[in-house]
Amino acid sequence: MAGGRAVRNAGKVTEPEIVDVVVVGLGVGGEEVAGRLAEAGLDVVGVERDLVGGECPYWGCIPSKMMIRAANALAEAHRVNELAGSAEVRPDWAPVAKRIREEATDTWDDQAAVDRFIGKGGRFVRGAGRLDGPGRVRVGDQVFQARHAVVLGTGTRPSVPPIDGLADTPYWTNHQAIEVEKLPATLLVLGGGAIGLELAQVFARFGVRVTVIEAADRVLAVEEPESSKVAAAALRADGVTVETGVKAERVSHDGSAFTVHAGGGSYTGDRLLVVTGRRAHLEELGLDSVGVDAKQRYLPVDSRMHAADGIWAVGDLTGEGAFTHIAMYQAAIVVADVLDHVRRAQGGPDASGTASVVGGAAGVVSSVGGAMSAGGSTVAPGSVPVADYRALPRVTFTDPEVGAVGLTEQQARDRGINVQIGFAELSSSTRGWIHKTPGDGFIKLVADADQGVLVGATSVGPAGGEVLSGLVVAVHASVPISQLRHMIYAYPTFHRAIETALRDLS
Ligand SMILES: Cc1cc2nc3c(=O)[nH]c(=O)nc-3n(C[C@H](O)[C@H](O)[C@H](O)COP(=O)(O)OP(=O)(O)OC[C@H]3O[C@@H](n4cnc5c(N)ncnc54)[C@H](O)[C@@H]3O)c2cc1C
Repeated sequence: MAGGRAVRNAGKVTEPEIVDVVVVGLGVGGEEVAGRLAEAGLDVVGVERDLVGGECPYWGCIPSKMMIRAANALAEAHRVNELAGSAEVRPDWAPVAKRIREEATDTWDDQAAVDRFIGKGGRFVRGAGRLDGPGRVRVGDQVFQARHAVVLGTGTRPSVPPIDGLADTPYWTNHQAIEVEKLPATLLVLGGGAIGLELAQVFARFGVRVTVIEAADRVLAVEEPESSKVAAAALRADGVTVETGVKAERVSHDGSAFTVHAGGGSYTGDRLLVVTGRRAHLEELGLDSVGVDAKQRYLPVDSRMHAADGIWAVGDLTGEGAFTHIAMYQAAIVVADVLDHVRRAQGGPDASGTASVVGGAAGVVSSVGGAMSAGGSTVAPGSVPVADYRALPRVTFTDPEVGAVGLTEQQARDRGINVQIGFAELSSSTRGWIHKTPGDGFIKLVADADQGVLVGATSVGPAGGEVLSGLVVAVHASVPISQLRHMIYAYPTFHRAIETALRDLS
């Protein structure tokens, strides 16, 4: 399907190369879309300026969870003293750094991921992509014209607050925190959100003296206040100083230490980690060339991830939730919708059609009895899904874990829902009592009393993220509370506390 080669004239491209699809940004979302469309037989160009795979495998989810796994092993070993005799624990960061370097990131080398994409039939271009008119993407002096779709999956970068002096200091973002080989003695963490708390607890468990500085009046401010309380207490129990309601006014660095000035006082540390949120950089994407406002915080998309005519977007860029599972969820929708678009362009039935004639130009997409094959899964006419974020799950992997789905109590009240709350302490459940440490945790349910369904839930505890799964099903499928009450909950599990919280809903 590829058109003629780009014609270069003194380094300038005079003619774009025609392809089926261009995917700009091969992070979690973009890599999935590009790979699956290439596997479906489309002529796909994937453009990545840094590492294929994006933030999650190199500086995000995976290495941070390796760090957490190691830190939790230390914490569990300390619990031997209370439960099973005595254990002496000497933390050593070297095996953690080695595992991240060798097992997770291949020393921040993406050759395996590039090969994987090429192996699926994609064509890889290293560089920064930028829209240059409808369907057109420029990468350096190469220009590609997409016949069917341009997909943007360019993610976000750390957003650094405009604090006086900060920009001139060698502060850390998550990149330096993940790549660290030798731990500092003291660390200041600016930002008490999920990433800040996870990393703060890890480093504290490895002996770093950590101070978290949060401007809001509580950490994990987007979650239930009860979650904030448990998380702050857990970090304090690990020796972390947690300061809330403290707004940093000025930052300085004297060549060896950082000082954060705030509220008339100051905090010092060998390193300063800034994790105050992330921002999409729309201004870099040439969106004005297709009539899209690049001054927005995120790129808005409809329920099938359309951002504009012929342009789809996927992942953090869309602002629908900065999670790998959102990027993957959206990627599946983009793949189905682009294939549907191709099918229609080739005269086949659209997603709502019932005709059985599918296919078109040879070798574009394989048809399987009226369906198009994409990466091992089939996309049948009539099956293009639409995004539904009602049951968006999120987990902060502190110890205890903070899992949540759907609306918080306040969000539900703000929407005018007739709210009922059900609550159960984990420590009052048999499993929580047996487990003993860490003692804190709870289930909180947010119900729509008029509809008789859950619209949100929080699960905090040693396996809070795992316990959450049943609650995600309940919110996603709007399972009637009457049915949830008449289920059997295995004894003695942590999730049995859900039954107690359901009883509390009355
Ligand atoms: C420390 C940390 C821990 C996290 N932990 C979790 C977790 O436990 N669970 C979870 O679900 N999520 C977690 N996340 C979030 C998760 O990493 C992101 O949601 C996910 O990576 C988003 O994927 P994406 O494809 O949207 O963007 P990204 O992964 O950010 O990828 C975007 C890619 O686009 C490239 N790019 C940008 N602009 C251009 C351009 N103009 N041309 C070419 N390429 C471009 C970038 O180089 C990048 O590779 C964590 C994040 C961090 C920072």
